[in-house]
Amino acid sequence: MFLDRDGTVIRHVPYLVDPADVALVDGAGESIAALQRAGYACVIVTNQSAIGRGMLTEAGLAGVHRVMDEQLATHGVTLDGLYHSPHAPTQKDHAVIEHHDRKPGPGMLQRAAAELGLDIGRSWMVGDSLKDTHAGRNATVRGTVLVLTGEGGEVDRMDRSIDHVADDLPAAVAFILHADGHDDALPPAARWTEESESR
Ligand SMILES: [Mg+2]
Repeated sequence: MFLDRDGTVIRHVPYLVDPADVALVDGAGESIAALQRAGYACVIVTNQSAIGRGMLTEAGLAGVHRVMDEQLATHGVTLDGLYHSPHAPTQKDHAVIEHHDRKPGPGMLQRAAAELGLDIGRSWMVGDSLKDTHAGRNATVRGTVLVLTGEGGEVDRMDRSIDHVADDLPAAVAFILHADGHDDALPPAARWTEESESR
């Protein structure tokens, strides 16, 4: 499971540089725990152009991630992988690959798959931006899910890179577990149903 960080796992803060601003999206910790119980490797792939823009150092980013890891640990979650791209973009088209590692480039997903032994064709990409869904598509994942938290509400939901739209990470995870035949990883009330569908 490839997960975007900002606006997907933690609340969207533009150019988050202060660890005190780290806050999990409601239900995100429980959702990732459910994925791991069902046997999914959970890997965050995050564009951190704040580094390329000179607003954040690698050490500063590590401090942010320490706080995120602590918050995830309260839900029993240890991420299987955490990859970031420090590159700053020079244009705004979410479909244009400027650097192989910066989403929508597939580089972080491919590197994680190689290093962790993941099957990209059975993987999913979840994020709140077309950069995320295009990165998933470019890496040829099984499916992409746009979440409406973070910046997701402003996205063109008809974009060809999106396979499914979900309100938030818990809803995305319920859909994916259902699609993969793992409904039993969630309590009955949290499982995906036709009625829980947002579009
Ligand atoms: Mg995001």
